Amino acid sequence: MPLNIPDTARKRVVVIGAGFAGLKLVRALRKSDLQIVLIDRNNFHQFQPLFYQVATAGLEPSAISFPLRKIFQKQNNLHIRLTDVVHINADEKLVQTTLGDVHYDYLVVATGANTNFFGMKPIADASLPMKTVGEALNLRNSILKNYEAALTSDDPTEIESLLNTVIVGGGPTGVELAGALAEMRTYVLPKDYPELNFRKMKIYLVEASATLLSSMSASSSSKAAAFLEKLGVNILTGIQVTGYENDKVLLHNGEHLKAHTLIWAAGIKGEAPEGLAGVYTGRGNRILVDMYNRIKGLDSVLRSGT
Ligand SMILES: Cc1cc2nc3c(=O)[nH]c(=O)nc-3n(C[C@H](O)[C@H](O)[C@H](O)COP(=O)(O)OP(=O)(O)OC[C@H]3O[C@@H](n4cnc5c(N)ncnc54)[C@H](O)[C@@H]3O)c2cc1C
Repeated sequence: MPLNIPDTARKRVVVIGAGFAGLKLVRALRKSDLQIVLIDRNNFHQFQPLFYQVATAGLEPSAISFPLRKIFQKQNNLHIRLTDVVHINADEKLVQTTLGDVHYDYLVVATGANTNFFGMKPIADASLPMKTVGEALNLRNSILKNYEAALTSDDPTEIESLLNTVIVGGGPTGVELAGALAEMRTYVLPKDYPELNFRKMKIYLVEASATLLSSMSASSSSKAAAFLEKLGVNILTGIQVTGYENDKVLLHNGEHLKAHTLIWAAGIKGEAPEGLAGVYTGRGNRILVDMYNRIKGLDSVLRSGT
């Protein structure tokens, strides 16, 4: 089944992914003599740095989602297709999607990253990741649903568990989210739910390494920790989360935290379509590239983005 891309004498470049990388590249090629095919499973670009605002009800999803057809209204050498890439056949220079196939002269894989649960199924099943607008919205709905349930519970232990949130991963996402939730607890929730005692709500930020923001400078790390502590976030460093059962977040030291909301911000893995995954990827499913960002072993396929 074809994707109905017109045949022309122009060289065709297929770009998979309309994140920052794909978007910027397609824009930069607007005056080129190439035929460009941009494929994404969504017909909008998602501004990921503000997911936490959607998750904490500070912004609506429409404020951080930008329709691709509007962005590229004036770009004549572009064909946008809304579909999922399921396989790349590099020998035949063919991209296979759920809607049909398309041949390329050059392929750019700008598929970004996805959540890595490191094989821990109970955590994958119970926790809420935040890698798409949909997941951020799901997180918001889930937290609010727990507060609604707390209103009608008469069990104090259960109420605390319904109010509590455990965030796993003290990188930028976890730190941002913990801060936003703490501000929400102080300024918003007591007004929206005057019948609930939010002084009992605990926000835990659990990080396996010794510091928050371990990939940043020591000063950023300590300032972030001091700021979050001032906001009343419970920071647990050097602690690994090993599982989740019966509303308990299990820790490697045998202890547990009781919380209905478990947010996983502790790892990412490369989003490599079939045909590349396992063959042209390394640690964490990251696609391996040379110094020109060409996928190692494939001349006409480039990696763009994370
Ligand atoms: C919560 C959060 C906060 C962040 N905050 C910051 C920040 O403050 N500053 C900063 O610099 N960075 C931040 N980042 C990181 C930044 O958003 C990413 O580095 C950036 O989005 C990567 O861009 P990309 O184009 O490589 O991939 P993405 O933006 O992930 O785009 C990939 C695109 O490919 C599409 N796609 C993937 N697979 C397929 C497939 N098989 N078929 C079809 N389409 C597919 C996806 O739908 C998506 O549109 C944050 C990330 C998150 C999750």
